[in-house]
Amino acid sequence: MSSARYRPDTPDKVFAIADCNNFYASCERVFRPELNDKPVVVLSNNDGCVIARSNEAKAIGIKMGAPYFQIERFAKQHGVAVLSSNYALYGDMSRRVMQILAGFAPRIEVYSIDECFFDLTGLKTDLTDYCLKICAVVKQWTGIPISIGIAPTKTLAKLANRLAKSGRFRQCPVLDWHTLDDTDAVLAETALNDLWGIAASWQSQLALLQIADALALKQADPKRLRQHFSVVMERIVHELRGLSCIDLEEIPSPRKQILTSRSFGEKLTGYDDLCAAVTYFATRSAEKCRQHRLAAQALTVFVETSPFDTRQPFYANSATFEFQLPTHDSAQLQRAAQRGLARIYHPGLSYRRAGVLLPELLPDHVAQLSLLSGERSNRSADLMQTLDAINQRYGKSSIRYAREILSQRWRMRQQFKSPSYTTNIRELLTIRI
Ligand SMILES: [Mg+2]
Repeated sequence: MSSARYRPDTPDKVFAIADCNNFYASCERVFRPELNDKPVVVLSNNDGCVIARSNEAKAIGIKMGAPYFQIERFAKQHGVAVLSSNYALYGDMSRRVMQILAGFAPRIEVYSIDECFFDLTGLKTDLTDYCLKICAVVKQWTGIPISIGIAPTKTLAKLANRLAKSGRFRQCPVLDWHTLDDTDAVLAETALNDLWGIAASWQSQLALLQIADALALKQADPKRLRQHFSVVMERIVHELRGLSCIDLEEIPSPRKQILTSRSFGEKLTGYDDLCAAVTYFATRSAEKCRQHRLAAQALTVFVETSPFDTRQPFYANSATFEFQLPTHDSAQLQRAAQRGLARIYHPGLSYRRAGVLLPELLPDHVAQLSLLSGERSNRSADLMQTLDAINQRYGKSSIRYAREILSQRWRMRQQFKSPSYTTNIRELLTIRI
């Protein structure tokens, strides 16, 4: 329907972005279809506050970030399904969606857990039809509804996606920017904070320059804006004009550091409780290191009490260890975390949070783990490989170090968590006939 006006033979770029609709709520609905058309909210770690809402939950006025205790009664009255976050499920569903998208485009950029840019440049077919097909396949294979925006630049593709979701132009999950009759009119109605990449702090400064909407920004002088702001703003102006300046980032930039920390469901005082927690954090950090083929040169362990607790002085402290050789061995990171904790732990205090930070990481081939440290390191590598293989096959923490299970008291409050349907064999969906 759109191909007549679209210029299929121009060398211009074509970007698309797929965004999963109400992603966390949609993941839950795949396995609990009775939640379809019902208001659904998902809570943050420790069931603190609302971090995701279905459209129905938005419609009855539940706000993003609302503390659970404030909406608890309202939610019960309105039959809202309240769920703890289940990141194992969301992460796995995300991986499945991205894998399908990768089959439809030569280049993709996984932008977030529920968003993916892809390149459709040079595709000689109707783009809207092509993307409608992608939506249908993703829905059929995973159960997740998605929307797709198409445009000559990433900035405009993000906006097109927003418009597709709003249903302003047609009730269709796909919107191709090229098919709009009057794009300037659309930009004039677009607020600056609805644009990708505009920092909140920039808006008031832009207002001082009489730039209050996306059309005014498009018509502004990019060189002048670069002086006021940065090259980022200059690029946004060009992108609004249809000139692509921001390419796909196909290879994620290597992680510079790994942080694993939690606020505790209840405050902890005992050394064993904290030791179990930091041991777990060290193990998770080591696993993340191995997964990304990185090695840690140092480890920092930290603890803190609540700054709002009037019954005790606020206490926060950390200890850092440097390793002689970079490592991603779980046992070595655990030992460092435990030794650090022993240094900074004060008995008699109630701790609210603790964590482990690996501040300096090296790619493990640069670290040359086995070459430098010989047989001991080979044994460690074999052991870690075996641990990872077992945990991958039988589910997270199927096999773990004894120190981790010394205490479970630090674990999160997750009253309403759904099963890990797709990643834990013991929690597979069961069907009774
Ligand atoms: Mg989304």
